[in-house]
Amino acid sequence: MRFVVVTIFPEFFPSPLAVGLLGKAVESGLVQVETVQLRDFTHDRHQTVDDTSFGGGPGMVMRVEPLVDALEHVRASHKVARTVLLSPRGRRFDQACAREYAGHGSICLVCGRYEGVDERLIEGGFVDEELSIGDYVLNGGEVAALAVIECCSRLVPGVVGKEESVVQDSFFDGLLDHPHYTRPREFRGLAVPEVLLSGNHAEIDRWRRRQSLLATAARRPDLMARLTLSEDDLRLLQP
Ligand code: SAM
Repeated sequence: MRFVVVTIFPEFFPSPLAVGLLGKAVESGLVQVETVQLRDFTHDRHQTVDDTSFGGGPGMVMRVEPLVDALEHVRASHKVARTVLLSPRGRRFDQACAREYAGHGSICLVCGRYEGVDERLIEGGFVDEELSIGDYVLNGGEVAALAVIECCSRLVPGVVGKEESVVQDSFFDGLLDHPHYTRPREFRGLAVPEVLLSGNHAEIDRWRRRQSLLATAARRPDLMARLTLSEDDLRLLQP
């Protein structure tokens, strides 16, 4: 999968993209991340990307001309399937959205800064959509872009090994993950659930499914309401 990130801080990215599973994915070429410096698309000596807000108010606004020039350059030279502006006002990012983006194969992520971008970037249709990673405000889109890159990359075949299967992750099938335990069997009086030591894989699967259902029902009734539960699931939910 290919990501092109438009940003005034390209230096934000190399370190997170060099470690762990994502680092391996980038090294092997399964995931490609390229940054485009927005300031390269300015025409003044100071490479200005922001200006004061029409109507007044605190904070600066990102100018539309360099953004559009950068995006036209990206479209012409990088052939991205979709252009996404990171914004707290956008569609909420979730696992379904990550699956959708991973299916596109390539995506351009535009990072705002300051008070955000000149609205004409959106009005003019220069981005396909706005995307939020949650109901809180970051200083810029770079952290949000990294979250999107890491999450989508997990869905690229070969990035996550079977020991860390994405199929068992929270949200994959609309449920939260079940609890996990490792050695020691007992820690300060806290024992690992007996069933996990039983070697009975059918029982273990049933226990895990039940824990997923219970955790989702207790913590995320909104997710639970969207699920169609099987007869087996309904039985597992019985006390
Ligand atoms: N004035 C804006 C507002 O209240 O909606 C916030 C601007 S924020 C300080 C600067 C930039 O950070 C945004 O343009 C966006 O690119 C990014 N950003 C901040 N929070 C975000 C979030 N929750 N999801 C995605 N991007 C975010």
